[in-house]
Amino acid sequence: MQTEKTYTEDLQNIVGKGNVREATAEDAIEGTAPSLVVEPGSVDEISAVMKLASANGLVVCPRGGGTKTGLGAPPRSVDIVLSTARMDEIIEHVPGDQVVRVQAGVKLEALQQKLAEANQMLALDPPEAGATVGGVVATNSSGPRRFRYGTVRDLIIGVTVVLADGTVAKAGGKVVKNVAGYDLGKLFTGSLGTLGVIADCNFRLHPRPDSARTVAVEVETPQAARDAAQAIVHSQVEATAIELHWGGETRLVSVLLESIPGGIGAKEERARFLLEPFGGVRTLEDEEADNLGPLDPSPVGDEVFVKITAPPAELAAVLESVLDAAGRRDVTARFTGHAGTGVTFAGLSGEEGALVEVVGEVREIRTRSGGSLVVVSAPLSLKQKADVWGPAGDYGGLLRRVKEKFDPGYTMNPGRFVGGL
Ligand SMILES: Cc1cc2nc3c(=O)[nH]c(=O)nc-3n(C[C@H](O)[C@H](O)[C@H](O)COP(=O)(O)OP(=O)(O)OC[C@H]3O[C@@H](n4cnc5c(N)ncnc54)[C@H](O)[C@@H]3O)c2cc1C
Repeated sequence: MQTEKTYTEDLQNIVGKGNVREATAEDAIEGTAPSLVVEPGSVDEISAVMKLASANGLVVCPRGGGTKTGLGAPPRSVDIVLSTARMDEIIEHVPGDQVVRVQAGVKLEALQQKLAEANQMLALDPPEAGATVGGVVATNSSGPRRFRYGTVRDLIIGVTVVLADGTVAKAGGKVVKNVAGYDLGKLFTGSLGTLGVIADCNFRLHPRPDSARTVAVEVETPQAARDAAQAIVHSQVEATAIELHWGGETRLVSVLLESIPGGIGAKEERARFLLEPFGGVRTLEDEEADNLGPLDPSPVGDEVFVKITAPPAELAAVLESVLDAAGRRDVTARFTGHAGTGVTFAGLSGEEGALVEVVGEVREIRTRSGGSLVVVSAPLSLKQKADVWGPAGDYGGLLRRVKEKFDPGYTMNPGRFVGGL
């Protein structure tokens, strides 16, 4: 075993002196402290860092914007945080083909600004400010617009990744030993930094809409929220997003409509008509709509924040099961969510033992009907009592085989993913 100092020098030789530093308390991941933070500036440098790490049994955790390093189970150990901060170049934007190729460390906001100059957008709108493209792909992040445009897997068309042993692999490019036959773009989407480092990605783009309006209905019950959302899902309105906000005084289902300028009035009228049976309908002022969406489901205080998935038609059952489990234990619940796509976020506040029970009870109900409950953020002590992911089910064996194919030495983010992978 070499000393830490020697690794520092080796890493400096790879990425340059100014791009290796000792980790501080702020670099800790869920209470686990790394030794070093390394910022490679190219695919070759990432590859050399990974070769050094895997040859010496050092654990690597990739980091983008650091907005969600708490996601997933706490890693078993971390030696090196590999930051993509210097990988921030928009490599190629071809407006005529509606495609862009970017390095993983590009901030999503910066990319959207650049694309807007050509009246285009990447149709991903996760709420966290400061997220990088690599982080968004690694966590399969999406936002309200997923109702119309889908998620990362629908928009990513290529990827360059660096595997744990330093192998550089490109999806759709030349076939690389060990990874032939995998659709790497889709596989690395949602892999949470456990399979390799995403170095750059190609996406397909969409034109920016010319005009937008948000129509909202104030509902009283979970059933009315579900019925209002379903009325839009099954209509010809072609909404961009259908969102839920439920907490305190607010019980709102809002519908984002986008169109060419001449068409927006007719869409708005149709949506208002469809929502009227479920409560008071209004078209939101721009400012109020901006505050609502893209939704910010960030946890409030020390709230436990969970993501529940279920078929969209089961929205009422999801809300009722959480309200019921929470109500019996003096836990308060608020919700935001993508009502049109069956993703509901619940923020739960209360005593820790009660929160663990609510998570367990709702997870059991949702898992039985084919859905899931994932703890997105929670104090570490709660994560130690309630599994973040829940059961891997039939996929457990497959996930393990993929992990062991790509990262047999468990160099990358060990323990973060489903089933302790
Ligand atoms: C289960 C789950 C569900 C989520 N669902 C939603 C949702 O439905 N809607 C929504 O808006 N947001 C969702 N999020 C939030 C999303 O995590 C953030 O928007 C995103 O993480 C921000 O990117 P970042 O650059 O700050 O990443 P970071 O916080 O820096 O990193 C996040 C994770 O990705 C890994 N990572 C980062 N960069 C790379 C890279 N280049 N190569 C390999 N791995 C890398 C890290 O190791 C870490 O594990 C979800 C997250 C999780 C885990």
